[in-house]
Amino acid sequence: MKTYKFKLYRQKKNKHLHQQIDIAGSIYNHCIALHRRYYKLTGRGLNAYALMKHITKLKQLPKYRHWNLVGSQAIQDIVQRIDKGYKLFFGNLRLSSGRSLKRKVRTSPPSFKKVKRYSSFTLKQAGWKLLDKNRIRIQGNIYKFSKSRDIPDGIKTVTIKRDPLGNLFMYFVVDEPINQNNQPMTGNSAGFDFGLKTFLTASNGKTIESPLYYREAMVELKFAQQNLARKVKFSGGWKKARQIVTRIYQRVVNKRRDWFFKVSHFLTDQFDNLFFEDLSMKGMQALWGRKVSDLARSEFMGILSYIASIKGKVVHLVNRFYPSSKTCHDCGHVYKELKLSEREWTCQSCGSIHDRDHNAALNIHSEGTQRVPASLRLGDVRPVLSGNRCLTLESLEL
Ligand SMILES: [Zn+2]
Repeated sequence: MKTYKFKLYRQKKNKHLHQQIDIAGSIYNHCIALHRRYYKLTGRGLNAYALMKHITKLKQLPKYRHWNLVGSQAIQDIVQRIDKGYKLFFGNLRLSSGRSLKRKVRTSPPSFKKVKRYSSFTLKQAGWKLLDKNRIRIQGNIYKFSKSRDIPDGIKTVTIKRDPLGNLFMYFVVDEPINQNNQPMTGNSAGFDFGLKTFLTASNGKTIESPLYYREAMVELKFAQQNLARKVKFSGGWKKARQIVTRIYQRVVNKRRDWFFKVSHFLTDQFDNLFFEDLSMKGMQALWGRKVSDLARSEFMGILSYIASIKGKVVHLVNRFYPSSKTCHDCGHVYKELKLSEREWTCQSCGSIHDRDHNAALNIHSEGTQRVPASLRLGDVRPVLSGNRCLTLESLEL
């Protein structure tokens, strides 16, 4: 699977797409409400097929007639997405491989979203058509987009997504056979640790720092947020200041994503097997309470897994309960009292002096390689131990 992204021109008729996204948002919320009510009444989950049938009926009522503006496949997609969200929460998801997942991989059930914040809808085969040049028809209207590259055949889904600035993008997911055998294998593997200051430290001692422009943009963002905080809420100046915050934030997100792709290519070019600690979002927050960087990390892991799967490389997740930072890589002594502020520490047992992140990366590497069969070479992310969360392509959310 490969994703092609294009930006739509800013046109007056884009309002139709915005309207469709808004309606998709209200349908989403409607479904969530139904799920909750159903669960309250019966104590059971609502069946996706039954819900879909129910919505088809609702669409005939005058009150919900405007729902027809959104393609029925888009509605089906919403229903399926919520259904999957609940299954991940209750721990009864059947994977496409036939295996069933009997663990909770979501800490909360799907919840209501502000319609203004709702950002996309997805169509499969119906409701859209690519026309000549750079035009596409979606639900009866023709839109133009900047066609930066050719779109291959075999499109599986089209997602229309808007960003907080009101820009619209199209994502084509294409079922392209990926020839992994063309990718050179290096025979190398490495462990990696995310740091507080350094983005990543590898077990070979190399580090990857966040780019300078990113750190600068974060400073700029902070000032813009402070400026916003000084304004009277909902005043003209406040709206302007908020627009500036949104713009900087969006730029940060875009640049970061772009950089994540570069780092992912850089790492997968060098290593066949890459070991990371399986840091659940929740555990990270409890440790550091740094939500932004946690989100960035999970975004990075998603992109890295995607790139790895294309190149036939493997990203392994090492059990998160393994104390990688606190264990001396040389003698195995566990230094329980290690504080977050200690960037360097001396092993009380063997006297080795450790850089915190490098020592952790070495441990993650050896812990991972010990447990992974040498023959393993799959283009997917593998949990190293049973009971670990398995990152898949699906986690690359549009
Ligand atoms: Zn030691």
